[in-house]
Amino acid sequence: MGLGRKLIGLLAVLVVVGCTQSDAQQEQQQKKDWALALHGGAGAISEDRPDSVKQAYFDDLDEALTIGEDILSNGGSAEDAVEKVINYLEDNPRFNAGKGAVFTHDGEHELDAAFMVGNTREAGTVTGVKTVKNPITLARKVMETSEHVMFATEGAERYADKVGVERVDQDYFYTESRYNALQRALEREKEEDDKQSSLIPEEDKTALYADGDKFGTVGCVAVDKDGQIVAGTSTGGMTNKKFGRVGDVPIIGSGTYASDLVAVSMTGWGEKIMRAVSGHTVSAYMKYKPATLKEAGDYLLQDVLNPGEAGMIAVDKYGNIYMNMNTNGMFRGSSDSEGNREVAIWD
Ligand code: ASP
Repeated sequence: MGLGRKLIGLLAVLVVVGCTQSDAQQEQQQKKDWALALHGGAGAISEDRPDSVKQAYFDDLDEALTIGEDILSNGGSAEDAVEKVINYLEDNPRFNAGKGAVFTHDGEHELDAAFMVGNTREAGTVTGVKTVKNPITLARKVMETSEHVMFATEGAERYADKVGVERVDQDYFYTESRYNALQRALEREKEEDDKQSSLIPEEDKTALYADGDKFGTVGCVAVDKDGQIVAGTSTGGMTNKKFGRVGDVPIIGSGTYASDLVAVSMTGWGEKIMRAVSGHTVSAYMKYKPATLKEAGDYLLQDVLNPGEAGMIAVDKYGNIYMNMNTNGMFRGSSDSEGNREVAIWD
């Protein structure tokens, strides 16, 4: 190769490196006082709904955002903001977490949740709980009061009693729409069995996931005035999930993750999110590439995961927010101390 071509090559490398660094530097402005993002699930969300239904979702997202804003703008912690925002969404039957959780194959509710603080890398998660009213509160308690990270099924419920977290009957979680969704899923499953489901191409399985019955997982990420970065996610999982199925949400590094750089909460097809170790992938990409939050989020959603699989919210240590999905919609909202505020469902 001639000297001229070598020099051109070197120049190109310098330009690329320069761009990456300046992109990263651009985002590294002064840290915002606080920032917050939340989601209520991603998937194939039909726009063909009555305006009153759409408005109800916007109102709920707005209300959830206000809860977090009040805490953070009054100097409260990111931990409290994340827990209280998620509690509101768990108690709201429109979302697939707490009351309104989807049904399992056996017609029950098995809930998963995770809570993580990035600065200290402390975490608490619960999986397969059937009687805990607010699983995110239990996950936070596990983080704060136990020497373990993850509790499953009856053990998690015993731990809830030990630390005074409220339990309810399974009936509490019932909603008619989720019950009907299970019946539709069972019906489809029967048809698939008849067609030998193992022969269904992967793209068609994505379409089966994105049938509109399965979204609604809730999550929240926040950074507070002290620079504490927190992620939380709570879910009923996926409609018609089989006995004992554990999704991405309670797996630290998959559906929920926080590091000293970023907090991430995912939603979508749990098995795909888990295999991509999604939350950790975003953090590692930012650290080692190095990359901005936007570059890392786009990398995960566009290069690692496939269309139709997931949505993601994240906040970095400077208060930059990322909310994006490779599905047609995600219930979401964000706000920061500089007055930027957004509530959205579709693109
Ligand atoms: N990711 C959740 C799960 O697979 C479901 C969802 O976000 O819709 O359990």
